[in-house]
Amino acid sequence: MNSDLDSEPLLQIEDLRVEFTTAAGTVEAVSGVSFSVAENQTVAVVGESGSGKSVTALAVLRLLDGGRISGGRVLWDGRDLAELDTRGMRRVRGDEIAMIFQDPMSSLDPLYSVGHQVVEAIRLHRRISKRAARERAIELLDQVGIPDPRSRIDAYPHQLSGGQRQRVMIAIALACSPRLLIADEPTTALDVTIEAQVLEVLRTVQREYRTALLLVTHDMGVVAETADWVVVFYAGQVVEQGPTAEVLGDPRHPYSTALLAAVPTPTTDKALPLAAIPGAVPSLHDTPDGCRFHPRCPQAWDECATTTPDLYALGGGRTSRCLLHRAAPHGTVAAVGRESA
Ligand code: SF4
Repeated sequence: MNSDLDSEPLLQIEDLRVEFTTAAGTVEAVSGVSFSVAENQTVAVVGESGSGKSVTALAVLRLLDGGRISGGRVLWDGRDLAELDTRGMRRVRGDEIAMIFQDPMSSLDPLYSVGHQVVEAIRLHRRISKRAARERAIELLDQVGIPDPRSRIDAYPHQLSGGQRQRVMIAIALACSPRLLIADEPTTALDVTIEAQVLEVLRTVQREYRTALLLVTHDMGVVAETADWVVVFYAGQVVEQGPTAEVLGDPRHPYSTALLAAVPTPTTDKALPLAAIPGAVPSLHDTPDGCRFHPRCPQAWDECATTTPDLYALGGGRTSRCLLHRAAPHGTVAAVGRESA
């Protein structure tokens, strides 16, 4: 983990909006989201399914299937990725920013050996011989913890375990030493022991390559183990963000508090049910007026159903979108158009 939270932002998402056109009309899946990722920093984007966290990650690489960026900016190295042409975007993908997904089986081609796929990824962005690329592939497979990589390189995806396939995906993502790795629920399909191993691989490669990591997860346990900074999403908006230790140790937004209450701890009595958050994330076709969390919030009062909370600054870069913090001495962040990490 990198604790240098004052480094220059590498990726800066400003007031991002993403729309999808559906049979029932246009819906906004991401509504004015702002946060940044610094060099060598791990930022976790957390929230339930349907909160807009994965859509935000996909928007960075313009991989929105059926969706479009309808507002805001995605600043990368001085360029707005939302405006970049197809050729420029292709160069950014894989070369500067790489992505790994939840299900490696759908990202790996079952017809080719994993070695072939790592070699292809290397040669797509670098002019090196097949032999040199194969040596580099063996090195990468070794770094991500594939045992006996010199012989496993010729294995096909179905011959590897789920955890090994995810390691191969990390090797492919690292093939061109990206400056930012985006991991969308990379361990959700894995059991707890393998999850811990894959997270350890991510941490190790991040240290070695000095890669920034944007981790999308619904799991506060993963956030606690991995991230320097956490951005909590609810219904297409950021509701809280700040340094991980502070947000997890003292969550200020009622939604963050509820998410944390649903995380098992070593002292959790397994005989008791975890405190699940009542209700469901609202449909994008019908987001509640006022605070979007008010139908589920245990602290809601009448005004929460009619007054839309701004983002209130809590000091030290922390923000919360809750009327309880309206009188915070540090003021309103939304009024100046962006939050900053
Ligand atoms: Fe809960 Fe009201 Fe705060 Fe929304 S504004 S999180 S409903 S207390």
